[in-house]
Amino acid sequence: MKYLFLLCLSVNVVVLHGCGNAKGEPGPEATVLGSSPSSAASQSEQPPAAPAFTLEYLMGKFDPAQHPDFVRVEDRYTDGDTYYLRKDTYQAFKLMWDAAMADGVKLVIISATRNFERQKQIWEAKWTGARAIENGANAAENYPDPVERALKILEYSSMPGTSRHHWGTDIDLNDLDNYTFEQGSGKPIYEWLSKNASLYGFCQPYSPKGPDRPHGYNEEKWHWSYVPVASQLTRLAEEKLRDDMIRGFLGAETAVKIGVVEKYVLGIDPACK
Ligand SMILES: [Zn+2]
Repeated sequence: MKYLFLLCLSVNVVVLHGCGNAKGEPGPEATVLGSSPSSAASQSEQPPAAPAFTLEYLMGKFDPAQHPDFVRVEDRYTDGDTYYLRKDTYQAFKLMWDAAMADGVKLVIISATRNFERQKQIWEAKWTGARAIENGANAAENYPDPVERALKILEYSSMPGTSRHHWGTDIDLNDLDNYTFEQGSGKPIYEWLSKNASLYGFCQPYSPKGPDRPHGYNEEKWHWSYVPVASQLTRLAEEKLRDDMIRGFLGAETAVKIGVVEKYVLGIDPACK
C-alpha cells in the first residue's frame, strides 16, 4: 500500500481519486477537488514531503505552537479549544470539511496535535489513577501489575513518544465514543467519512481488530490520519524507533516487555501504511 501511495503522489492528482481509498475500493468522483486552485491537487505538486523527519519529531519532542510546519486550527473547525496541525494536513482537512458540509455533515476537531509533554500528562494521570481510564476504573488500584496496567491504558491511550497525535497528521473528530458513530448522532458522520475521507488522504488507523490488525489500540471511529505524511512517519518508526527509546514517564519500563512499537505504533490498519 505504501508504495502504491508514493506512486500515486508522484502522479499528482491521482492520489485524490482512488489511490487514497482506505478500503481499496473505487471511490466516488470528488468533483469538488478539481475546482479550487488551493486544492490538495496543487498541494501534491509540491515534493511529497522530503522532510527529513527525525526521531525527535516522531516522538513529539517539539512545541507545535512554535514549529514552522504547524498552524493553529481556526475555531470554525473545532470544539473551541486550541489545536495545531501540520499545514499539509490542515489544507487537506479543510477540503474534506467543505465537502462534508456540502453533504450536511459537520466535522468537528476535538483533538489534534499532542506533543510528548501533553501525552505524558495524560498517560501519567491514568497511570496514577488521577484520571479514570475508559471503563471508569482507577488503573493504579485495579491493575497493580505494571504490564497489566499499561496494557489496560493502552486500549485507548498511547505511551508518550509513540502517539500518532505527536505527528500533526492525526485528528479526533466529533466524539470519543464508538457507540455515537454506530447508533447515535455520529452515524451519518462515520458513514460519510468511511465513504469519502480517503479522497482527501485520510484513513482510520484504528479499525476493528482482526486478522489484518491483530494488535494495537481498540477501534477508534473518531481518529483519522493524513496518510501522505503519516505513512512516512510510520515507516520511520518501523526503521528506527525501538522499545527501549520509549522512556521518560511513569511506567515506561513496560514498553520493552509489551513490544509497544511493533504492537501499537505499527498495529494500524494496513490501508494507513
Ligand atoms: Zn486520536
